[in-house]
Formats: sequence, structure tokens, C-alpha cells
Amino acid sequence: MEASTFILFGATGDLAKRKIYPALYTLFLDNKLPDSFSVFGLGRREWSDETFRANVERSIREFSRHEAIQDEQLNEFLEAFRFCILDAGRKDDYVKLLRMVESREEALGAPPNRLFYLSVGPEFFETIAFQIRESGLGSANGWKRLVIEKPFGHDLPSARELNRKLSEAFEESEIFRIDHYLGKPIVQRLEELREIDSSVRELWNRPIANVQITASETVGVEERAGYYDQAGAVRDMFQNHMLQLLMMVATHLPGAVGVSSERSKKQAMESLRPLHKQEAGAFVIRGQYGEGTISGKPVAGYTSEPGIAPQSANDTFIAAKLRIEDDFWSGVPFYIRTGKRMKRKSTRIVVEFGETDLSGLSAAAGKAPNLLVFEIGPNDAITMQHVPTGSPQTGKPETIPVYIPDRGSLPEAYESLIYDALLGDPTFFVRWDEVELSWQWVQPVLEAFEQQLIPLRPYAAGSNGPDASDALLAEEGHHWWDNEPELQNGSKEGESYACHVNH
Ligand code: NAP
Repeated sequence: MEASTFILFGATGDLAKRKIYPALYTLFLDNKLPDSFSVFGLGRREWSDETFRANVERSIREFSRHEAIQDEQLNEFLEAFRFCILDAGRKDDYVKLLRMVESREEALGAPPNRLFYLSVGPEFFETIAFQIRESGLGSANGWKRLVIEKPFGHDLPSARELNRKLSEAFEESEIFRIDHYLGKPIVQRLEELREIDSSVRELWNRPIANVQITASETVGVEERAGYYDQAGAVRDMFQNHMLQLLMMVATHLPGAVGVSSERSKKQAMESLRPLHKQEAGAFVIRGQYGEGTISGKPVAGYTSEPGIAPQSANDTFIAAKLRIEDDFWSGVPFYIRTGKRMKRKSTRIVVEFGETDLSGLSAAAGKAPNLLVFEIGPNDAITMQHVPTGSPQTGKPETIPVYIPDRGSLPEAYESLIYDALLGDPTFFVRWDEVELSWQWVQPVLEAFEQQLIPLRPYAAGSNGPDASDALLAEEGHHWWDNEPELQNGSKEGESYACHVNH
């Protein structure tokens, strides 16, 4: 890996503390940082290098996934860290930063390869990108990269405007947009599905009845009331994480069954049947939680949460039915749902196969599985499940493991993503065309929400969302698969199996 400097805006913030420093520390332990590597932390707080290092140390001791932290290694790691007081809007601060960075590069004999990580609110993205260009921080003698976190705009026009501004300072190939769902191990494994061993793959070579993507949370708005009451589930989850998961599965599953292996996520998104706002109510369900019970404890309804307007008509749940109109996916509905204060915390993709007698191909016990399940969180697993015929809603599925990783060995999403950004590998980042196409699909839905063309349906906290979300599938003869995976051989979730995936 080439020598580089990691320039972190928002170094005093929560994301840096909980995710970025622990991820960098793991990369350091795994020898996945460049030999010559420096971190410049930035923020308005008047921190010295020592204060900064003490804060980074605290964050690692509190949030690192490594239990035994060795003082000697930690001290060596912290030597790379320096702090520069910077206010995002102050031109002079960038000039000072440039001098500090250049002097460090000179001392190390390192080239001016600089990664700018914007761990700050989106209102600063444009200003910072502009100042980086104006100050000359992006040197022509090395590479420059910009890493940003969602939200990428709050609707289609604002996303386009943000992108226009960023592209005045950075080429598209230099912008690494993080959607941390793309860093999750099971999502990354989707990339390798076509390498899965052929006897298992053959089981998938049958008609797909539907694809279901769920991200349900049991928590409410927590400390993010101000942001969430403006964003809602549609902006917070649907436009980005959920549509990215749809693109990933739509792109890679056909590869696994021998259709085209060269499709891009963008093509999947381009083939999505667009919605008009007048018809959106037939395809999109919008909900808001009321009071209810989570894990046996009573919880308040959304509008009684601190910081939420008592009359708020914001969505905390969204379910949608989408169609990809291409040769492979034509006729296969994609059902997506996401919500807060739901029954179970789970992010999963379920591929349901149509009825076909494939018992001759069975991987276990002479039965053909009819679900392929990607458990993305909190468990990590790929399984196939056989649901006994005759009682699909009540019958207990048998589970056949495909890939059950050893959880202790799994990288955190931010480890994989920061490593890829340092390498310059864009595979698991979000491209502008994907962002734009996502907003294009969502924009009529936002307008339908605003014009109250889609009713806001209440649901009890601790439920699976409004009944209308079940009806959305029932009208096509389907239902949500909510089974917890039950693994065979007496093993529990999270245990390691002999894995069918070729490594
Ligand atoms: P945060 O805790 O509020 O931190 C904000 C950071 O921005 C602080 O370091 C602050 O430093 C800096 N900042 C604020 N105003 C500034 C200014 N005028 N000039 C320079 N620096 C300024 O926010 P966060 O939770 O870390 O989130 C950062 C970004 O990541 C946000 O865009 C958020 O949406 C995104 N994100 C966060 C999480 C998470 O888990 N926290 C997850 C996904 C995405 P000073 O106060 O020292 O100036």
C-alpha cells in the first residue's frame, strides 16, 4: 500500500470515536496500513496532539473489538496522530493544515497522497471540498481521495447540487461514498456468490418467486430526534441502505445462476420500474409507531418521544414492492421493508424459490430448500431453508448452512471500507449514478408523502409494522418470511460450519 496521510474532519466527533479509530487500530494490528502513515485530526476544539492521542487511546480501549490492548503497540500506533485546530469555513486554517501536512510528509519522505475523510455533518461537505481545492491540499504530485458518509442530499435536486459542487474539487473516481451496509461481511460475500460450489449453486437454478429485504430495528429514534423527524425511514434507510442491498442482490444473484456476470449495480437500478406519485400508494406503505411493548417492556409512541413534534406525520416504517424489468428479474417482485420499534432486530435478504420438485438435487435429507437467506445482522450467515410443503406459514423450516463464518474473525464494516479507500478500491462504495438513480426512484414517493397521497398508517411498537405491509405481499400470494434461522447438527447461530463457499 502506498504511503499516505489520513486527514480526518470531525476528529473530535462520535463517529470517529466509535468507529474510525478502532477500525484504524485493527488495520494497524493486521499490518494493513502503509509503512509510512500519518493521521491529522481536525476540529474546532483546542486540542493539543497529546489531548488528541489521549482521546484516540480512550476510544480504542472502549470500542476496539480487540480485548487485550498491548500498551506498546498502542503507543506505536498513536505516534502517527497529530491534531490541527480547524474551522471548516476558515480559509486560513486550511493553509496552516497544508503546512503541517507538508512538513510531516517531508520528515517521512512520503509522497503527497492524501485521503480526506469527512466525518462531519453534510452541511460542511461543499465548503470543505471547496477549501481543499482552493488551498492546494489536493496536490498534483500525489493522489487525493474524498471519503464522505450519507446523507448524499435530502432529495433529487439537493443530491444533484451537492454532487455538482463536489465534482468541482474531486473527480468521480476520487470520491468514496460510504454506505456502511456495503461493508458488512455478508453483503461483501454477495460479490463472491458466483464462486460458490456448483452442487449448491445448482439448487438456486430454479425460478425465483420473490426477493424480500428487511431491516427492522427494535430501537426508536434515540438521540437523533432532530435529524430523524426531518428524514424519516424513507431518507434514513430506504433511499440508501435498502436500495443498495437491492442492487447488490439483483446484480450478484443472476451471476450465481449463470446469467450475466458483468452487470453493474447501476444497471439493476436503471431497470427498476419507475413509480408515478399518483400510483405510489399501491406500491408503498408508510407507517409510524404508536406505543407498544418491546422485550416485555412498555415503550412510548413516536410522537411522545423527546424531541419529536407531537403532531409529527413522519414515517418510521416503509414497505415497498418494486420490479426490475430485465430478462432475468422480470415477473419477480422485490419486497423491501424497514422500520423502527419493530418486533425483532434483523437485517436480512430472503430469496424465495417457486415450487419445483428438485429432491434429486437436495443438499441435505433429500429435500429441496426453497429459501436462500442472507442474515446480514445481528447474525452473519448464508443458509438455505426447506419449508415443508402444505403448511408454509406454520411449518418449521429446516436450515442448511451455506456460509456461517466464525464471528470473531469477521472484520467491522469500517475496517473493510477504510482499507479499500486507502487502497483506492471503489468496489464497495456508492457511485454517483447509483445515488442519482436511487433519488430518481424515491422522489415521486417523497412527493406522494408530502401531498398525502399515501396514508400514514399506525403500528404498535413491537409489531411487524402496519397490516397493510402484509397485505402488499398477500395480494400476490406471498408473505414475509420472518423465521429465525434454526441450524441443523445441534449447532446454534454464530457457530462455525464447514463452509460450502470456495475461498
Ligand atoms: P458529531 O459527534 O456531532 O461530530 C461532528 C464533528 O464535526 C465534530 O468532530 C466537530 O468538531 C466537527 N465540526 C462541527 N462543526 C465544525 C466546523 N464548523 N468546523 C470544523 N469541524 C466541525 O457527529 P458524528 O456522529 O460523528 O457524525 C459525523 C458524520 O457522520 C455525520 O455526517 C453523520 O451523519 C455521519 N454518520 C455518523 C454515524 C455515527 O454513528 N455517529 C453513523 C453514520 C454516519 P468540533 O466540535 O471540535 O469542531
